[in-house]
Amino acid sequence: MTKQQDGQADFQPEEVILVKLGEIVLKGLNRSRFENILMKNISRRLEPLGNFSIRSAQSTVYIEPLDAAADFEAAVDQVSRIFGVIAYTRARVTEKSMESILREAGAYLGGTLRRARTFKVESKRSDKRFPKTSPQISAEVGEAILNQYPHLAVDVRQPDVTVRVEVREVAAYIHSDALPGAGGIPVGTGGRAAVLISGGIDSPVAAWMMAKRGVELTAVHFASPPYTSLRAEEKVCRLLERVSAYAGRLYMVTAPFSHIQEEIRERCPEEYFTLIMRRFMMRIAQRIARRQNCSALVTGESLGQVASQTIQAIACTDAVAEMPVFRPLIGMDKSEIVLASRKIDAFDISIEPYEDCCTVFTPRHPTTRPELAKVEEAESVLDIDALVEESLQGIYTRKIVPGQTEFDFA
Ligand code: ATP
Ligand code: MG
Repeated sequence: MTKQQDGQADFQPEEVILVKLGEIVLKGLNRSRFENILMKNISRRLEPLGNFSIRSAQSTVYIEPLDAAADFEAAVDQVSRIFGVIAYTRARVTEKSMESILREAGAYLGGTLRRARTFKVESKRSDKRFPKTSPQISAEVGEAILNQYPHLAVDVRQPDVTVRVEVREVAAYIHSDALPGAGGIPVGTGGRAAVLISGGIDSPVAAWMMAKRGVELTAVHFASPPYTSLRAEEKVCRLLERVSAYAGRLYMVTAPFSHIQEEIRERCPEEYFTLIMRRFMMRIAQRIARRQNCSALVTGESLGQVASQTIQAIACTDAVAEMPVFRPLIGMDKSEIVLASRKIDAFDISIEPYEDCCTVFTPRHPTTRPELAKVEEAESVLDIDALVEESLQGIYTRKIVPGQTEFDFA
């Protein structure tokens, strides 16, 4: 054993993170698969932050720093954004003696207890050799807390704070109420999908919502240089980084779109510009999706938001899709989408004023009730296959990882 490992073996963490698993506990036979994926996601997310031990027992995942260099605060922050975590809490680890439990409970939860008016203590003893029963532990801890914080009263029905003491095999843990986690199910349990991502408010939220349902994402972005700038593309990278804080690392595939748009503008009726453009996006995105093993597309459309998002327009867009198209925002109001966008810290980036390929070629009077046959006729003057191939020839891929702040733009 090297010196360093020696040091690790001696290291006693003062605090750990306890993670409560969400829906995955309900999944019966799938449970262990879900749990394994969640553990893998947690360990991948904590890897840049130092050495942690991650193990699960009785529907709880224990995350313990293995040395003093492990960044515990950053780990707590990461855990709050991992899908599949229903709730989490930091907990004080202490020796399994009543003396240290009584001392630590009041000290560790001091900040919370000072702000509260009422509390109760709940204890659990999975180590049955521990000399006190759970009710005895609760009573003694409660008394010690009352002595230390005389302003408090006990309320067993609706306390402001519940002090929890767990006496387990290796140590005792003290914590208060858990915080709500990101919810959802672990990314990687729900297959793979390609999300069409713009620089707007909606598509990053759509991506986040699908990741929340366990879907692993690849992002497809259409860029129209010179009408759109590299800054606009960099903005999309930063938005995706916000998504990756929840969804984990992902690939962003950028596809050139200017030639297609120029052709449409030159040769198709203006009222169909947007629709024909969206049909091209679908065709190209699903080719990229297949290459990346994705079996669905995701967009940030919401019913009635703009002309291309009416039922009839969506029907025309979907007519070229050969895989399911998910639109998780379809029934959401803009204000609800904005709320979600703020929650994931994407909003301030989304509203930066960079042009998107869609805004560059916006028709003045788009049709809101298109007929598929007319759209097909309008686009039939274009060499669709060749234009799709040309765009696919020009794609390039970037990797986006959580926490990334720099993107290489020549
Ligand atoms: P967003 O806020 O996501 O840009 P939006 O309300 O502006 O959405 P549109 O511009 O009509 O709506 O785009 C609808 C959807 O089409 C977007 O949510 C996104 O999924 C996709 N999309 C739009 N522009 C692009 C682009 N440049 N690259 C990839 N996908 C795009
Ligand atoms: Mg947009």
